[in-house]
Amino acid sequence: MTMGQRHMAGDRSWSSDRRGQEESKPLLERLQEMLGALPGIGPKSAERIAHHLLAASREEVFELADALRAVKEKLKRCSRCCVPTEAETCFTCLDTRRDSGLLCVVEQPRDQAAFERMGAYRGLYHILHGRLSPLEGVGPDKLTIDQLITRVRGGEVREVILATNPTLEGDGTSLYIAGLLGHMNVRITRLARGIPAGSVLEFANSQMLADAMDGRNTF
Ligand code: ZN
Repeated sequence: MTMGQRHMAGDRSWSSDRRGQEESKPLLERLQEMLGALPGIGPKSAERIAHHLLAASREEVFELADALRAVKEKLKRCSRCCVPTEAETCFTCLDTRRDSGLLCVVEQPRDQAAFERMGAYRGLYHILHGRLSPLEGVGPDKLTIDQLITRVRGGEVREVILATNPTLEGDGTSLYIAGLLGHMNVRITRLARGIPAGSVLEFANSQMLADAMDGRNTF
């Protein structure tokens, strides 16, 4: 077997024989495999990053390694909204300029980051850390739904904005939460959906058009 063939054979077996052989693998190959397992990084990028790290200074690489370790060791979930934070309560929850009567429920911290980049929302958040997915064994106990209910029961929240992704599972999660909150004295809303701004009607799929028609506003 030539080196090239061995490399290709190795490529194919990356995911299947990971466990058990990790320790015996050459270090560089192991690093590439771990990098390649990250979202959005294919084998080519993994190889490029691994060689970049190999060429970088010790300080640079150790700083990166320290940052990776610190993320797992020092970050915990905010006691109120469940976003990853170093403190007991995150900056957003402690910000008194925010409207604590508005609660935007999102699946992931990156969804909150997207709303913050938009800049127009001044309420608080609740991070579910996933969505209900019976097929993948993700039930309500795997999410932070209990904490959400406790929060709303506290009485300060007047509107819960369900901002899960507009997917089957995201919608199912919102529906489930709406059911739990239904008997409480709180307004339950969800994000508008339909035609994305800047797009053209003829390219919208039928679900987008149906959503847009359902959510139409007075002109
Ligand atoms: Zn928080």
